[in-house]
Amino acid sequence: MVADPSKAHPIATADSSKAHLELLEALGHAVPRSLDIPRARRIFVNRNLRMDEIDLIGFDMDYTLALYHQRNLESLSIQCTLDKLIAKRGYPEEIRTLDFDPAFAVRGLVVDRRLGNIFKADRYGHVGRVFHGRTAMSREERHQLYRLERIRLSSTRYAWIDTLFALPEAVMYSAMIDYFEKKGPVRFGKLWQDIRECIDEAHRDESMKRIIKANLGDYIVKDPELAPTLHKFRSSGKKTFLLTNSAWDYTDAVMKHLLDHALPAYPNWRSYFDIVICAGSKPAFFTDKNPFLEIDAAGNVKGKHTGAFARNRIYQGGNIHDFEKGVGVRGDHVLYIGDHIYGDMLRAKKSSVWRTAMILQELESELTAVENNKGRLERVETLERQLVRLDSEISYQQMLLKSLQKLAEQGDPHHEPLAHAAPTVDAAKVEAKRRLDELRAALKAAADEVSENDRVIDRAFNRTGARSSARRRRTRASANRSRTTPASTPRACRTSSPTRRCATSARRANHMPHELV
Ligand SMILES: [Mg+2]
Repeated sequence: MVADPSKAHPIATADSSKAHLELLEALGHAVPRSLDIPRARRIFVNRNLRMDEIDLIGFDMDYTLALYHQRNLESLSIQCTLDKLIAKRGYPEEIRTLDFDPAFAVRGLVVDRRLGNIFKADRYGHVGRVFHGRTAMSREERHQLYRLERIRLSSTRYAWIDTLFALPEAVMYSAMIDYFEKKGPVRFGKLWQDIRECIDEAHRDESMKRIIKANLGDYIVKDPELAPTLHKFRSSGKKTFLLTNSAWDYTDAVMKHLLDHALPAYPNWRSYFDIVICAGSKPAFFTDKNPFLEIDAAGNVKGKHTGAFARNRIYQGGNIHDFEKGVGVRGDHVLYIGDHIYGDMLRAKKSSVWRTAMILQELESELTAVENNKGRLERVETLERQLVRLDSEISYQQMLLKSLQKLAEQGDPHHEPLAHAAPTVDAAKVEAKRRLDELRAALKAAADEVSENDRVIDRAFNRTGARSSARRRRTRASANRSRTTPASTPRACRTSSPTRRCATSARRANHMPHELV
């Protein structure tokens, strides 16, 4: 037994909290490790979530439990779409040889179907960077097209790239615009529609699913933390359910790959869940009254289901109303985790009191990029403040110089001209000019340094527009910079909400576009 912990642990005098943790460890007690979690691996909240009040936790499958090897999936998606464009829409074989750059697109981009442009807009509809094909538009072109009138992003003229499944659409569209424009005028709307319909068909029919199911390890990340995480929830008394839009055959194949044989206490993947619902047709699950069906392990419908749900059964379709009655858990005690801003999050929030959590896969790499560029981002913030201050000083010196000039020419209007003060005024003018030159040189140097840092930081994120919250702060700071500041205008950042486009799409179909159903 340690009689005086502060003496037993010399570090305690310098840092008592650290000593306290060391003491706990020495005594064999559990030591809180919350601060050890890297920032990129943390969970961020908009409001309090008391897990002790959550009784039932639901999971979407694609991009929630099942993360994809994105590059492989995009490559397959492009391949299957090209097959359909050539075979069914009469596109030339040569499009197979185009360079489809997977790094070109990020979630949150907007496609202007009328003009064939891809841009990034912020939450206010303010358009940042714009690409036509894979060429960035100049500031003047961008201003001419998107700043002279209000952009209505809910218009059918625009399409959102709102899921990771949709990235290949933007990649293909930009590459094919470059290709076809070399041959003549392009019908941008028709090209977009053809790509959109073919890629959707590839997701719906067996084209992609057959290949993924045969090579699951190539397409789906087998996360060793998944099974222990689900086990932790279950062992702390939570019930769990799976609610996916994917059909049973695909769900079964993917979930087997992820969870079968992961932990000895669970005989198969279904034993991790109290309720399994496939072909859930979200967002209609939250808005319509589709009945629940029970199916067997071969996917055959056994009949309609009503009432309580049972373990080891498989359900299909359904709706939130019957679900809540069947599980007997209050809506505000349900937590649903998904990745789709509209189908999983917004629709659930509007139709229920479920708590929701969203998987934003890109956040991990973006936070890592912020960490890796921390010094550079801080330097840019310092420079941005410096630019504002220099700008203000330049304005003051310009005003002073004008006043001195006026004084030298006209004298003081309230007094007789003071001839004897002329040398003093001249000296003040020389000093003001010298100071002005000095300030302008400092401003140019700071702006050049910002531009150079911008270039490096841009490469760490994505050239079409993805940017961290750190950049948002810079955008605000830069808005204060006056017209005298040279170049280096910060671009748009990740602030868009893709919900409207999804709402339009969802009205047309009972599944979300881009899903493997
Ligand atoms: Mg999903």
